[in-house]
Parts: sequence; structure tokens; C-alpha cells
Amino acid sequence: METLTAALRSVLPRDAVITDPVRLRTYECDGLTYHRATPGVVVLPATAEQVARVVRLCNDFGVPFVARGSGTGLSGGALPREDGVLIVTSKMRAILEIDLPNRRAVVEPGVTNLAITEAVREQGYYYAPDPSSQQVCSIGGNVAENSGGAHCLKYGFTVNHVEACEIVTPDGDLVTLDRMDPGYDLLGAFIGSEGTLGVATKITVRLSRAPEAVTTVLAAFESIEQGGQAVSAIIGAGIVPAAIEMMDALAIEAAEAAVACSYPAGAGAVLIVELDGPAAEVERQFARLRELCAGAFELRVAADAAERAAIWKGRKSAFAAVGRISPAYIVQDGVVPRTALPGVLAAIDRLSAEHGIRVANVFHAGDGNLHPLVLFDDAEPGAGERAEAVSGAILDLCIEHGGSITGEHGVGVDKARYMPRMFSAADLDTMQLVRCAFDPRGLANPGKVFPTPRLCGEVPGVRKGVHPLVESGKAEQF
Ligand SMILES: Cc1cc2nc3c(=O)[nH]c(=O)nc-3n(C[C@H](O)[C@H](O)[C@H](O)COP(=O)(O)OP(=O)(O)OC[C@H]3O[C@@H](n4cnc5c(N)ncnc54)[C@H](O)[C@@H]3O)c2cc1C
Repeated sequence: METLTAALRSVLPRDAVITDPVRLRTYECDGLTYHRATPGVVVLPATAEQVARVVRLCNDFGVPFVARGSGTGLSGGALPREDGVLIVTSKMRAILEIDLPNRRAVVEPGVTNLAITEAVREQGYYYAPDPSSQQVCSIGGNVAENSGGAHCLKYGFTVNHVEACEIVTPDGDLVTLDRMDPGYDLLGAFIGSEGTLGVATKITVRLSRAPEAVTTVLAAFESIEQGGQAVSAIIGAGIVPAAIEMMDALAIEAAEAAVACSYPAGAGAVLIVELDGPAAEVERQFARLRELCAGAFELRVAADAAERAAIWKGRKSAFAAVGRISPAYIVQDGVVPRTALPGVLAAIDRLSAEHGIRVANVFHAGDGNLHPLVLFDDAEPGAGERAEAVSGAILDLCIEHGGSITGEHGVGVDKARYMPRMFSAADLDTMQLVRCAFDPRGLANPGKVFPTPRLCGEVPGVRKGVHPLVESGKAEQF
């Protein structure tokens, strides 16, 4: 590591290489604080060329590297390697170009999600994907996680809003993947690959026109079942709101404690529904929405931007707010078909009672994307293990109901072990073959996404037999 560090110092500015043990610890985890590792060395490149130089050196020394944006990931994707280099993009924060006629912006990877919208808001544009962490998370991290957010029900995920990406490939080449490229959708493969296919150094995003009208409604229900029925009724009526978010009583309690959001007292669940589009259409949909939310004991409609922000405040701060009612918690992320929501929520309730572990529910109800917050006291012996068990059982519920182990937070190191519950060995091998095509030496963010790597030269797992593609000579095993 010392020789590599000397080599890194020779290709980067002096202050761009961190080896001080105290400063290294700043980067030992992301938002999933349960997993920690001190990086071997941290680098803060300022240009794509510097990233490429770092990656080339990692190749020369056969050392793994991990990209990190703002470190808000909740699946341990940016967990560093003690024997590796952590490439932090926080110095790459330039908005390089704004091209409104073509509705595009070209940005460096460390730019925060919200900064893109702030740069074009006055001209009536915005960047649509809006993770709740949008004030701090980086666009590079969003690309790597294919991040979503409250408004993705109508507008889609990061993959729907990225036009091109300049990347440093795992062997150190600087290439551009463009949506317009003929052939396989390599840009699509890169988005959501969690830093295992290279480091994004420049991203061209699509800008959206701000809608003519927005109506934000808070509907308070006595129970979560009633809230769930309203969601089904809204979607069943053919309305596609910009967002439908639900919070249960425990999540509301946490949000009240943290940000005093003044949601209706005594609510078993609140729904936040946002309608947007041409004014006449929003008005018509709102009239229908009122009827569909007839079961609500209170319906609050935001009269202006300040009231809209007040409605969103509780939801946007919900994850962090849970810290007010519990010393520790796990933010889970799974998806179920919308129709399965009531059954799965009831099953989560039962799990919670059986294990004596409280679970607060905050979720993108329109997408069926659950974010159960599994609360525990880390000072209580065995509580962490019980919380882990509940958390895992929730993912099993998602799979049983035809859903997925992650909606938007990625697999990272946290859920790699659940991948075999969703995919067969052949599926996983095939994914590894894609990875090998980009990263034959397995140096880009190893140990993430895949449970027990079977191909590609990573830590060897127990492999039985040869992958059919390798056997037929169509793919190579490295
Ligand atoms: C309070 C809170 C709310 C959140 N709400 C949401 C939400 O609503 N929706 C949602 O989708 N997520 C949400 N998240 C999760 C997280 O913010 C997103 O996953 C985000 O995209 C991570 O961005 P980051 O810059 O922090 O990435 P990091 O945590 O630094 O890294 C995440 C992954 O991206 C890789 N990576 C980072 N930069 C690059 C790059 N330039 N090139 C290649 N790979 C890279 C890393 O190796 C890692 O695998 C939330 C997190 C928190 C803490």
C-alpha cells in the first residue's frame, strides 16, 4: 500500500491523497453505519483524467478501488476496502453545461441532485428523480444506485433521466456511454451497477419542464388499511399522481418529534398525494381524488408553496426523524406489487409483535416500494440480531409476494446474501459474466452485489459445475 500511495502522490495534487488514520475514519462507512472498514487510502481527484490515473495505478498494483459520492447510501455500497483505494468525487462538483433548448445538463459526478434543479429552476425546469437525500447525495451515487424518490411513480427512476455517462472503465480507460449508441444498452447496464462497472466522471441528465399546476394533498386515515384502500382506489381510477407516499402512526410520531410537522392528530396513517400537469387536468383529477379519499377524516390541501413544503417536511425527514424515537434502526428497502401492500403490511405487523421489535412504515405507496424502519436498542443484548431477523424476514415477504429485495437503495454489501433467494445460480453467474466484460480482474467495488462470486477472479466461492455459457465457449471464465 505504501508504494501505491507514493505512486498516487506522483499523479495527484498533494492534498488529494489522504493517509492520516484519523481522516481516513471519516470514510469508514456510508449511511449503513452497521458495516465499517477503514480505507487503505482515500483520494480526492478533481478531474476525470485524475480518476483514470488512479484506476490505472490500482490496476498496476492489483489493488481494489471503491467509488464514493456523498456516502448517503443505505446498503453499504460505498463501504471501503482496507486493502484498497477509496475514490471520493466530492471535488468534482462543476455543472459543466446547461442546454435548455435540448433540455440537458452536463455535470460532474459529485454535484448534488438538488443542485441541478437549483441551477435551472428560475428558467422553469427541474431534474425529476428526487431521493429524500437530494440535498446531499451526489448524481454519481444516484447513477450507481439508479435512485428513485417520491416523484418516480410518474416520472421514472434515474435510468429514465440520464442521456450519457463518461466513465473510467475498471482498467482505466475513459469512455462515453450514450443512450443513442447503437447495439446493446451499455448505459442502461452501467446505471444501477453500484460502482462495479467503473467510475462515472461526467453525466448528461435530462431536464424536465416544471408542470403548469401542482396540487399537494395530505389525507389522514384512522388506519393503514384505509390508507391502502385509498391508494388502490386512486390507481384503479386511472389517476397517475406525481407522488403517493404513506406514513404509519409510528413514522408520524417520529416526524412530529423531530420536525413538528403538525400532521392531523390521531392518524393511523397519512397519505401525501401530489397531482401535477396542465391546470385543467389537475383540477379534474383533484375533484376525483376528493371522492376517492372519502374515508379520510381530514383532507388538507396546500394553498401555496410554503404549505406544500410543510406537508412534505414530515415525509422528507422521516428516516432521520426515527432517531428521535429509537437509539438504532435499520432502513429496509423492498418492493411488492401494489395489490399485495395490505397483506404485506399486516404480515410486517405480525413479525413486529412476534419479535418484540417496533417497525415504522414510510413508503412510496404508488410504487409498492416499502421502507420499513426496524427499530431497536443497540444497548440491549440480542436486540440487533432480532432486528436483523425481522429485516430479513421482511425481504422474504417481498420475494414471496412477487416483489424484490430492493426498490431503490441497491444491494451493496447489505443484501448480497439475499440475492440467491431471488435469483438462481445460473442467473447470478450470468450477471457475473456481464460484470467480467467490464471488469475482468474484479477490482471495481468487489464484495458488493454478488453473494459468493463464482467467476471473474474475486474471492472464490464454492462453485459446482461450469456455467453453460462458459462450457459452450460463448463466454470466458477469468
Ligand atoms: C435520509 C436518506 C434518505 C434517502 N432517500 C432515498 C430515496 O428517496 N430514494 C433513493 O433512491 N435513495 C435514497 N437514499 C439512499 C441514497 O441517498 C441514494 O442511494 C444515493 O443515490 C446515494 O448517493 P451518494 O452520492 O451518497 O452515494 P454513495 O453512498 O457515496 O455511493 C453509493 C454507491 O454508488 C457508488 N458510486 C458513488 N459515486 C460513484 C461514481 N461516480 N461512479 C460509480 N459509482 C459511484 C458507490 O460505490 C456505492 O456503490 C436515502 C438516503 C438517506 C440517508
